[in-house]
Amino acid sequence: MKYNEIMVRYGELSTKGKNRRDFIRQLGKNIRNVLVGFDGIEVKAQRDRLHVILNGQDAQPILDALSKVFGIETFSPVVKLSKDASLKEIQEAALQMISEQYQSGNTFKISTNRQNKNYPLNTYGIDDGVGSYILDKIDGIDVEMKRPDINLRIDVRLTGIYLSSKTISGSLGLPVGTGGRATMMLSGGIDSPVAAYMAMKRGVKIDMIHFYSPPYTSEQALAKAKDLTAKLTAFSGTLDFIQVPFTKIQEEIKEKVPEGYLMTIQRRMMLRLAVAITIERHCNGVFTGESLGQVASQTLESMRAINDVTTMPVLRPLLSLDKTEIIKIARDIDTYDLSIMPFEDCCTIFTPPSPKTKPDLEKTRKYEKNIDIEGLMQEALDGIKISKINVDDNYLNSQEDVFAELL
Ligand code: ATP
Ligand code: MG
Repeated sequence: MKYNEIMVRYGELSTKGKNRRDFIRQLGKNIRNVLVGFDGIEVKAQRDRLHVILNGQDAQPILDALSKVFGIETFSPVVKLSKDASLKEIQEAALQMISEQYQSGNTFKISTNRQNKNYPLNTYGIDDGVGSYILDKIDGIDVEMKRPDINLRIDVRLTGIYLSSKTISGSLGLPVGTGGRATMMLSGGIDSPVAAYMAMKRGVKIDMIHFYSPPYTSEQALAKAKDLTAKLTAFSGTLDFIQVPFTKIQEEIKEKVPEGYLMTIQRRMMLRLAVAITIERHCNGVFTGESLGQVASQTLESMRAINDVTTMPVLRPLLSLDKTEIIKIARDIDTYDLSIMPFEDCCTIFTPPSPKTKPDLEKTRKYEKNIDIEGLMQEALDGIKISKINVDDNYLNSQEDVFAELL
């Protein structure tokens, strides 16, 4: 079936009264952004739905891209006929559509909605005219009003007659950009990309912050974090990736802080830096991939000792998810395979064998005085590099190419 357009129905935003117009505008922008690689596509946002006009493009890759955009409840590929198409034309289009989906024993229903009152046939006339044609042409098919296998909708509008028979579930959530801005502490692990996805689902536009520690961590570890970011652009469009050098801080902490407190104090430094970047970028929160009870640094006592450095909201969308639930989402959003690639990130390397699971706040503050917090922070902030990451970027592979050339 050659579809002409895709009809997109809004999700949660339809309940948001006065912000509605901004939401629709943002959703339209986000859809244009993810479809930028397809020539000739037009996106028309209306009050109650949005139309993606295909202008000859194949529908399938565009349906795939739309399934990742937040703020969409459902969407349907649509055939558009002229506003005064004859019953015969409607019947033919309907037959082709249903035949493509029909499997032996399936039932169907025609649901006509007529907004164009000037159209010569009324709702019943169209339902009946098309329904009896289908019964006549497809052997063994039956009508079923309550739970049909195939529900063919016919929308008779002033702009044209629209036929659709598939309703595909969207990602729900809110359009990215309508929920404010925050930063995301992104490691190379399984959890933080999932947390980033969940932040975006609530409409938050995020900037990625990644701490790296060369030469203890490899170029690949950095490339992996960038590739994870590239995967996440499918849900948000281009993302800013901020890489923060962390080597000096880790070395200094390792030298000057008792082993049981290494991890807590490293995390405090990370959070301080993340907050400084968050403020500088006019963002209003820091997201992390922490989940309560998962590892030593993720007990309530530990979170309190780390959170002590700031009043900025630290948001933890995975807080009460189990690892298996997190892994399931990671697979769904296609970050899992990358996350489990074995490049050590900066925390693993400096993690002592037995970090304190219940760090004492007073002791944490005391031991931290052994290091030059301000000086180390300034040096790290001076060494920041920021890059823009796009949908098709691929950092690990491009490195393999470099290696291949060297060999
Ligand atoms: P993840 O799977 O996200 O790496 P984790 O289970 O390894 O998480 P931790 O190592 O305790 O847990 O890290 C907790 C959180 O701290 C991470 O989810 C991430 O938000 C942040 N974080 C850890 N390492 C880094 C890093 N190198 N750069 C940026 N953020 C980091
Ligand atoms: Mg990790």
